[in-house]
Formats: sequence, C-alpha cells, structure tokens
Amino acid sequence: MNGSVNGSRVLVLNSGSSSVKYQLLDMADGSRLASGIVERIGEGPVADHSAALKQVAEELAARGLGLDSPELAAVGHRVVHGGTRFTEPTLITDEVVEEIEKLVPLAPLHNPANVTGIKVARALRPDLPQVAVFDTAFHATMPEEAARYAIERETADRYGVRRYGFHGTSHAYVSRATAALLGRDVSEVNTIVLHLGNGASASAVRGGVCVDTSMGLTPLEGLVMGTRSGDLDPAAIFHLARVGGMSIDEIDTLLNKRSGLLGLCGDNDMREIGRRMGESDPAAQLAFDVYIHRLRKYVGAYTAVLGRVDAIAFTAGVGENSAAVREAAMRGLPAFGIEVDAVRNAVRGASARLISTEASRVAVAVVPTDEELEIASQTFELVAA
Ligand code: AMP
Repeated sequence: MNGSVNGSRVLVLNSGSSSVKYQLLDMADGSRLASGIVERIGEGPVADHSAALKQVAEELAARGLGLDSPELAAVGHRVVHGGTRFTEPTLITDEVVEEIEKLVPLAPLHNPANVTGIKVARALRPDLPQVAVFDTAFHATMPEEAARYAIERETADRYGVRRYGFHGTSHAYVSRATAALLGRDVSEVNTIVLHLGNGASASAVRGGVCVDTSMGLTPLEGLVMGTRSGDLDPAAIFHLARVGGMSIDEIDTLLNKRSGLLGLCGDNDMREIGRRMGESDPAAQLAFDVYIHRLRKYVGAYTAVLGRVDAIAFTAGVGENSAAVREAAMRGLPAFGIEVDAVRNAVRGASARLISTEASRVAVAVVPTDEELEIASQTFELVAA
C-alpha cells in the first residue's frame, strides 16, 4: 500500500432525508466490519443529521471501531446528483461542498441530506480524507444523443435539463461483476443491467461503458417503480394542472410517491403483489403487467442500442429475489437469443449466478448489487493513489 494513507478501512455513509446508513469495510480483504442504520431523523431522540452521525460514531466506538481509529483511511459519501460537474469520485474540499450545494435544485429530495452528512462527518474528523461518490457519475459517458432531450437547446442548457441517470454505482458494480461471472474482461462484454429495487432503472453498458440509461434529469423517468410512474407523456402534467387543478408540488408528489406499483394497485412491495396475484386480484395483476411491459420495452430498446447483447443482469430487491418478474420479463424472447431456464431461475441464492439455458445466446444472470463495497473501493482507490 501507498504511504499516503495509513489504514485500510473505509466508512461508507449514505445520508438520506430521514436516515443515515453506514458500513465500515476493510479494503485489505473487502470484509465488512460493521453496518447499521439510524432512522427517523427529526422525530424523537435523533433530532438531526448531526445527532444521527454522532450516534453512528458511538455505535462504532462501542465496538472498538471508533472514528478516531488510525485504521480508518477515509470516509466515502454517497451523493445522488453530480450534475455535469462531477463525473468521478471526488476528494471533498470546501469548494466541492459548495458545488454539491449548487446542484440541490436538480435533486431537492436527496442532495441536501447528502451535503449535511458530509458537513457533519468533516466536522467530526476534519483531518480525514473524505470522498464523494456520485450516483450519476457512471452515466456521464452516455453519448450526447442519449443524454439530450429534444427540447430547445438554449433553454435546456440554461437550466441543466438533460439526462443524467442514477443508480450508477450499482450499474458500474453489476456490469463488472457480470463480466467476471462470465469469466470475461469487462471491455469485451455488452450488458443490459436491470436494477429493480424500490427505485428501478435499466442501463445499456458497452464494454464497461454506459451508453444509455432509463432514469433522466431525475430518478422519475423510465421503468415503473415502487411509487414512481416512470415514463409518461409530459402533457399529462399540463392536463392535471389545467383540468385537475393540481399544483406543481401536488403533481410532483403524485408522480414520485403515489404512482408506480403503489398507484396501480395500492402496494409497492412485489412480494405482496405476488401474493395478491395468487388470489387472482385484478389490480395486482394489472400492476405487474404494466411493470413487466415497460421492462420488456427497455430490454428491446437497449438490445437495439447495443446491437449485440452478451448478458442481461437482474439486480436489487426485486431483480435478485423475484423469479416471477425475471421469468415474465424474459418470456418468449428466443428470437432475441434469450432463453431462461425455469429450474435455474427458481433457485435462490446470495451469489451471482446464471439463469439462462445452455443454448441461450445471451447470458441471463442474477447479480446481487453491492453499492457500499463499490463506494468503498472507489474511495480507497482515490485516497491510496
Ligand atoms: P431495494 O430498493 O433494492 O432494497 O428493493 C426493495 C424491494 O425489493 C421491495 O420493495 C420489494 O418489492 C422487493 N423484494 C424484496 N424481497 C423480495 C422477494 N423475495 N420477492 C419479490 N420482491 C422482493
């Protein structure tokens, strides 16, 4: 190891609006030393992010892993929006914090909490290198024709209206892990990554480089999600405002929090939807069908974008756990060279695995994501360089 850092441990912090998730990893062997979550910030005993991070520090200290440990090499912070300014993991300085704050209008739900987490962690350990890892960064390689919306250029540029993409840390990790599963170098493999969690996004990755993704200016675009609509005609917003008399904030809440699976059937958890489908519940069936239809459209679109697809990787809560979603998404596609093996698909497991048949030209895989490990690796790589 390089002499510029002493320890090999990285603390990963993911500061959300009402929670702080943390993991302490040892990059010498990739092991996880501690992990936890402080929830309900702002309600009850945890008054604010400062109190939450102090609790994280106390939990770690109680296990002999305190923030003052010489083994701690750096803190890695998840930051949702990097705009066009941040396309790489970035060592945090006062200037970087200011720049991330300037991006708040692009991610009003996420960046403020990320910034607060950074400020509190820097106050606790001002001497320690801290690194921002951006959810948008992996998608910065998208070519202009994929990143541009077809709207007036001057207006788009003035307000930063373009496609940024999110879940980039996961798409980066999973596309590499998929190549590793196939025993091939990532530069040789074209992959469609389907990150299906409560939020959901697809990406087209050519030789390890992202060339398109389904989320855009914000995480609202693209696939049907737990509570987000994904793609819709933007004129629906004008219609709801003019005819429905809804305000911009009401429509924002409708599309982000009360749509998607939840809006279609009242449940956003795919397990519950599966259970209800077993009882022939028509609303749950419709929600599932709309979800699958949208997913298949993106698989088709990204097949055309990539030209040659070597692998399709399912990841995150739904992608890793729902054999029914994987089966329905991949059904009837032998013309695309896609054939899922029913027995392999039904096997549960915690590690990356193939679910396609031997004959399938496209490898279909379940690849558990690990955003914390990816953030820790990128952080450590930067500070040890
Ligand atoms: P994530 O955002 O990646 O944590 O994914 C959360 C989502 O994964 C939940 O909303 C569930 O819908 C889904 N999920 C978790 N476990 C299962 C499962 N066994 N079957 C189907 N969906 C699941």
